Amino acid sequence: MKYIGAHVSAAGGVFNAPVNAADIGANAFALFTKNQKRWHAKELSNSEIRKFQDRCAELEFKPEQVLPHDSYLINLGHPEEEKLERSRTAFTDEMQRCEQLGLMYLNSHPGSHLNKLSEEESLERVAQSVNLALEKTEQVVAVIENTAGQGNNLGYSFEHLAEIIKQVEDKQRIGVCIDTCHAFAAGYDLSSTSACAKTFAEFERIVGLKYLKGMHLNDSKKERGSRVDRHAPLGDGNIGWECFKYIMQDERFNNIPLILETPEPERWAEEIKNLRSFTN
Ligand SMILES: [Zn+2]
Ligand SMILES: [Zn+2]
Repeated sequence: MKYIGAHVSAAGGVFNAPVNAADIGANAFALFTKNQKRWHAKELSNSEIRKFQDRCAELEFKPEQVLPHDSYLINLGHPEEEKLERSRTAFTDEMQRCEQLGLMYLNSHPGSHLNKLSEEESLERVAQSVNLALEKTEQVVAVIENTAGQGNNLGYSFEHLAEIIKQVEDKQRIGVCIDTCHAFAAGYDLSSTSACAKTFAEFERIVGLKYLKGMHLNDSKKERGSRVDRHAPLGDGNIGWECFKYIMQDERFNNIPLILETPEPERWAEEIKNLRSFTN
């Protein structure tokens, strides 16, 4: 089964996200469980949690069809102790929120070394940050996303993802999310069926498809290897439909949330319909 959706709004409360997803014909969704631009958030109330779970049940979204995203402020590889601490606290809090909602994943970007640490040292911090959060939660899987490698962001290579996995103790609770725009901007070719086959063979060899817990389906406004992260609607960028057709037709991408983060929400329903038309 292909779980296809988008990163929908949770304005007004997390319980609005499943409704917004159902409205566009999605059978998966991503959401922020708190304001992604703030450090602090009010705790989720029991009634909010119940309402979220009731609506998910009603609209037939199972936990495996939901890929929450954490705050953009969090940097799990931060070079400065105090700021690293703040990020770790916020990350653990987000993991706990997901657990309270009965969800199984939390998607986050690895972080940034800010030119004050080597990539290696910063990646080690990321893995330690994940280890610490896993100790304070029971079930949620930390899902680390690849990046375009903009600025000094970590996570632009499959090797970075593999290194984080290697240093996380509980391998059952670490996974990755591949964002097609980020991979392409980082230099991985996805612009044809054969290029996709080659890129995912490399992913299998270096990371392993068993760690793939979700994907972000975005086309790219910028060219391959630009290291600039600019999402485009599917088919409007330099990746093109062939890649998304490839993903839809390949069973290795079954049963994980496949999430649009494309820039024109009014086109999501159509993009989902087009994606679904490629599935068998
Ligand atoms: Zn993404
Ligand atoms: Zn992006």
